[in-house]
Order: sequence, then structure tokens, then C-alpha cells
Amino acid sequence: MAMASSNLPANPVAQINDAETQAVRFGFENTYARLSERFFKRVDPTPVSAPQLVKVNLRLAQSLGLDPARLVSPEGVEILAGNRIAEGSEPLAIAYAGHQFGHFAPQLGDGRANLLGEVKGRDGVRYDVQLKGSGPTPYSRRGDGRAALGPVLREYIVSEAMAALGVPTTRALAAVTTGERVFRETILPGAVLTRVAASHLRVGTFQYFAAQGDTEALRELADYAIARHYPEAAMSGQPYRALLNGVVGRHARLVAQWLLLGFIHGVMNTDNTSISGETLDYGPCAFLEAYDPAAVFSAIDQSGRYAYGNQPRIALWNLARLAEALLPLLQHESGSEEGAVASANEALAAFVTQFEDAHAAGLRRKIGLFNEQDGDRALAQNLLDRMAANGADFTLTFRRLCDAASNQGADDAVSLLFADPSAYAAWATEWRQRLEKESISPVDRAVVMRNVNPIYIPRNHLVEAALSAAVERADFQPFESLLIVLSKPYDDEPGFEDYAIPARPEERVTQTFCGT
Ligand code: AMP
Ligand code: MG
Repeated sequence: MAMASSNLPANPVAQINDAETQAVRFGFENTYARLSERFFKRVDPTPVSAPQLVKVNLRLAQSLGLDPARLVSPEGVEILAGNRIAEGSEPLAIAYAGHQFGHFAPQLGDGRANLLGEVKGRDGVRYDVQLKGSGPTPYSRRGDGRAALGPVLREYIVSEAMAALGVPTTRALAAVTTGERVFRETILPGAVLTRVAASHLRVGTFQYFAAQGDTEALRELADYAIARHYPEAAMSGQPYRALLNGVVGRHARLVAQWLLLGFIHGVMNTDNTSISGETLDYGPCAFLEAYDPAAVFSAIDQSGRYAYGNQPRIALWNLARLAEALLPLLQHESGSEEGAVASANEALAAFVTQFEDAHAAGLRRKIGLFNEQDGDRALAQNLLDRMAANGADFTLTFRRLCDAASNQGADDAVSLLFADPSAYAAWATEWRQRLEKESISPVDRAVVMRNVNPIYIPRNHLVEAALSAAVERADFQPFESLLIVLSKPYDDEPGFEDYAIPARPEERVTQTFCGT
């Protein structure tokens, strides 16, 4: 029974019996499997003993043209656990390399993931469907190929929150528990995440072939990336340079968005840097509470390489590794080695301006300025400096500023977020003088500001609480509630006020772990 898209069941599990006998039709394409053998190893997921559905993302399923009722059927759950191969799927593990914390590893690859195939979304875009935590592959090295429930739910929550915030990101289609235990520092329940991505091409995929001096494979990969993500580059006289320009531009805008929302990726290795420009791999990620450019949460990031404020510099470093990998192709286009280096450097130089423009424009919108004027960047920076000096909560400061933008009476609520409330008051005087030069009405200004300054973000303590309830007590209610709140991050939701406030000192999360 096919379901009309407007007719989603409130409780899809209740539909299981209807759907039981129906096969899930993914309509898989397998364009990656058609690339040269060097690109991957064919390997099926390893079945698990007792798969149980935790969550299916109904809206995402629909946008991919998948019937949610069939996905939650026993057969669907078997597919999501890796116990059954869906019709048309050609599972494989992708080869890639990568710089991890600055050190090059020539062979990483999907050590615990299987690409099942690609599906065409209703938007006409082709997406990868990947199981993560689905068993060992030829690239597992010493790993067990598995994922623990906590990190699977963390990726589910944060990637879906990022999507709702409007940030390019991979998505979470489903989470299942395996009924098996995984051994980390402790014994944990195992789980599998179904991840949907524009593709799983990474900077590290290019590095893999570049390190082997395999220019033929490099060209095949670049052509595939262009066809899939940058079709306009094919029209250019220098397609590979245009590809590099495209990736640079998307990452400049992506990192600007991260900073504007207080997101810290935590492990910006080149194997976690997507070619599509999506946020990829949610490990020890976190969100800022008190504004601090030097903030680091990841337990494994001891030098602060991936600190909040370092992210633009690291993104550029990662893109430079992509440019290096592309040199043989750029050389062919520009006719000489020096020409290739010059071309790569030109492409990389554009990052700084593109990032700064996107970041400055975003900051202007966050403080309610819509016409660009000299001094706007300095005004925004002045606020950030005061926030840093006063431990002001990043998200709440900007959200409460929306109220203050139409009502000076709301100033007190903003200044309460500053250790020294007068630090805000002094800035607000200057801000109001600048606001007078805008033609938009104060009420409209506040409305527009609320669309760029979220009230709800996946605050670290809320994420941790949802994970520990699920892992320690098999209580998925906090996970479900958090997903609901985060699905509309820009709308005040009566009854959910607690989700908007920073952690109390005893709740504060100071470290995050990748849990691999
Ligand atoms: P990540 O830190 O998740 O980006 O992973 C880095 C590399 O380690 C990738 O090649 C992963 O496939 C691999 N890896 C991570 N966890 C495991 C695991 N449990 N078993 C096998 N490989 C893993
Ligand atoms: Mg990774």
C-alpha cells in the first residue's frame, strides 16, 4: 500500500502489519560502483543478532521518495541493520586517505561503513545511502567495524539540528540498535546509523590517489565529482580549476555558517572534509555556550588545532591539501608545473575573501543590519569581544538581541547574560545609533533577526542527557523530545523554555568524545 505524502501516520510503527509483506523500494543507482575497482572494495554489511528500530526520519524518507511505513516494517529494519541487502543495492566500502591532526595516513577508507547505493531525491539530487557501524571491511585496520549507540544518536541529533538550522550537512535517515555489545572503554550497546549524503567524496579521496601517483584515477574521480556536484565546472575552459574554486567557495560559506551558529566540528581532518560542501562526520562536535574563540571540547584535540576560532584557518589548510592533490590535473590545464601552482594558489586565495564576506554579512544580519555601512564589522566585533570578556552565552545573547531590537525594555534580559551587565549597555547605545540608519521598522527587524538567531541549538548537556537516558536506561523519550525542539530551531515553542537556556554549572559538558 503506497501512502500519499500528505498522509503520514502519527505512529508509523502501528502500520507495520500493513507494510509487512511489501518490499522497501529504494530504487538504488550505483554510480560509485561503476567507477574503477581501485575506488572501493565490494563488501556486504555484517548481520547483527537482534536489530531493533530506534528511529526513522519520516520527512527525510519522504523527500527521498521512500515509503516510511515500509522502512519501519520488519524487512525495512533488517535492511537498516545490514541483515538484508535491499533489491538493487551493491554494498561497498570506499577507499580514501587523509590528514588526521596534520599527519598523513595514506590508507583510511570506510572501516565501519557500507555505501548501499544512491537514491534520487524528490529535489532531483542523487544522494548516497550509507550504513555506519555495519561491520568490518577491508579498511577496518584494527577497528571492529561497529558503532556504539551514543555516538549514533549524537550524529542523528546534531546532523538533523544542523539541517534544520539551514547548514549544508549529511542527514540521518534511521538508527537501529543491533542487540550486540561493542567494547570501548566500557561495554556499550551497538547501533547502526543510516546516513544520507550528497556524496561521501572527501578531500581524502583525492589524496588517496594523489599519494599513489595515480593520475588516471585522480582524473576519473575529479570528473565524477564535477558531474555530481559541480556540473557548471564542466563548461569551464579549466574544469579542474573550476572544481577547486567550487569546493573552496562552498567551504568558505560553510565554515562561516558554523561560526555564526557557534558550531565546533571537533575533528576537521581531511578525510572528514566533504567535496560537496556538506558538514561531514559528527564525532566530538559541540556548540559554544559562553562565547570563547579558543573553545575546544574534543578530548582528543589536546593542542586546540580544531578550536572554534581556528576553523576557518583549518578549512583553508584542508583545501590546500585538496589543491595539492589536484596539481597533476591543474598542470595539464595550465601547461606547466609553475602554472599549476599559481592556479592552485589563486583558487585558495579566494577562500579568505569569501569566508570574510560571508561571515561579516552573517554578523550584520545577526545584529539586525541590512544595509552595509563602514564600521558594521567593528560594531559586531565589539559585541563579540564584550561577550568573550563576560562569558555571555552565544546563542541567547543574539536571540535576546532580537527582542531588544524592537523593544529597549528587553535590554535587561540581554545584559543579564554578561558578567558585567554594563558591558552590554555601553555597546547597546552605539548599536541603537546605528539601527536608526536602517529603514526597516523595529518590529520587522526583530522578525527577520529571529530567522537567523536560533533559540534552540543542540546544547551539549541536552545531547548528553538524551544519550545517557538511551544508553543507560533504554529511555528514548529525551532523544525524541530533543529532536522535536531542534526541528524548528528559530521558533519559540511554549513549554520548551528549558531547552533554550545554558547548562547550569553542574550540568556543564566540558569535553566531548568521538567514541569510535
Ligand atoms: P572517524 O574518526 O570516524 O572519521 O574515522 C577515521 C577512520 O577510522 C575511518 O577510516 C573510519 O572508517 C575508521 N574507523 C573509525 N571507527 C572504526 C571502527 N570502530 N572500526 C573500524 N574502523 C573505524
Ligand atoms: Mg571520518
